[in-house]
Amino acid sequence: MSQTLSLLAADVQVPDAPAPMTPVPLGSHDEPSIRTAVPGPLAEAHIAFDEMYTSPSLPRAYAIVPVRGEGTVIEDIDGNRFLDFSAGIAVNVTGHCHPAVVEAIRRQAGELLHYSASDFYLPIYAHLAAELERLAPMAGKTRVFLGNSGTEVVEAALKLSRHTTGRQNIIGFLGGFHGRTFGSVSLTASKAKYHAHFSPLLPGIYHVPFGSEGLDELEQRVFHRLMPADEFAAVVVEPIQGEGGIVVPDDDFLPRLRRICDEHGILLVADEVQSGMGRTGKMWAIEHWGVEPDMLLTAKGLASGMPIGALIAKEHLMTWGAGAHGSTFGGNPVSCAAALATIDLLEHGGLMENAAERGAQILRTLGPLAAQYPGVVRDVRGVGLLMGVQFDSGATAAAVAHAAFRRGILVLTAGDDVVRMSPPLVVTEAQTAVAARIFIESIEEVAASR
Ligand code: PLP
Repeated sequence: MSQTLSLLAADVQVPDAPAPMTPVPLGSHDEPSIRTAVPGPLAEAHIAFDEMYTSPSLPRAYAIVPVRGEGTVIEDIDGNRFLDFSAGIAVNVTGHCHPAVVEAIRRQAGELLHYSASDFYLPIYAHLAAELERLAPMAGKTRVFLGNSGTEVVEAALKLSRHTTGRQNIIGFLGGFHGRTFGSVSLTASKAKYHAHFSPLLPGIYHVPFGSEGLDELEQRVFHRLMPADEFAAVVVEPIQGEGGIVVPDDDFLPRLRRICDEHGILLVADEVQSGMGRTGKMWAIEHWGVEPDMLLTAKGLASGMPIGALIAKEHLMTWGAGAHGSTFGGNPVSCAAALATIDLLEHGGLMENAAERGAQILRTLGPLAAQYPGVVRDVRGVGLLMGVQFDSGATAAAVAHAAFRRGILVLTAGDDVVRMSPPLVVTEAQTAVAARIFIESIEEVAASR
């Protein structure tokens, strides 16, 4: 550490996480409890410390400094209690620190922390692969590659698509988000800032609008005037766009995309990094349309917060040989243990049913907002617990997200003008009602200030 930095560091009070302030378990609270201005004094001090050392590229939506979580409740460094309708960007599907997930992690951590499954035979890696093969929304046999994150399995899918088809080009959709490493960021088309100053990006990626009009464009413009269909290896699609603003496609889109892929030998890759793991009320969002992908990608919710990602591909596509692809940490045993516990809870803990019911509850409560606040709220949409409220502008969406934060509800913006709600799938009816009420109060506050 340079002397200047050490002096600066000495000036900033870096608080330790305070002792628990809540006398009853965090998760049993329905109402948020905001006891300081937010950000509070400890949060302010921590943010000053953070900003000395961390990469300025981190987007940081607002000043929450979480130190403890249980279920749908997050406590910040000042002891403020929030209802978490963001879940660390749609990650903690079983809620924060679910006891079964924590116990699985503890047990595995005491047995084996790491042994690379790329070079050796790690039992729990194969167990998780077998579970994902069982859950895959494909009729025939599949195989699984495990990575550490969403972007890493998007890269794996791009490589496998080229490898197995011998073709180079890829189709993506405007508004799509697939990650931030070179292949995945080239496929991402939600905001130009993700591409700025990083060129040249991966060549051979063609973007069309998301929805049936985009498929018209694909067939009439791209295949006809730009690149023949038989030069495309894959199309990568989010069945419901997340980061792009919770965009649910028209019902014809995915079945027609499947038909186009079949006609031209193009692989259909479903990026379910955000929409998968029960979030929409089914294990995979693509199941709502009865469409079978050739490959499916999952990450975020897979291990309830532990880093992991999976590429599930039809067996006949996994033509690559030993050494063609791998990862030192991918399928880390502790993450695999958390994933197995997560799958068990999703299948036997009623979480997917709850996602469907709570999503319907949010739609019932917030659905009328577009009529009640014309010119402010434009749309309320989503499936299960992947919900979005669209506003008249990005500024309004950001203001509502901040107002909700100050009142104790954590949400996150998405797309140009949407507030996204993606709470843990354990969220209760009472917590959902409270969050919806406070969200409406936040809209009222913003609407009244204009
Ligand atoms: N794909 C989708 C649909 C995503 O939403 C994201 C992240 O938000 C990614 C891929 C990238 O995942 P990660 O941030 O784990 O690299």
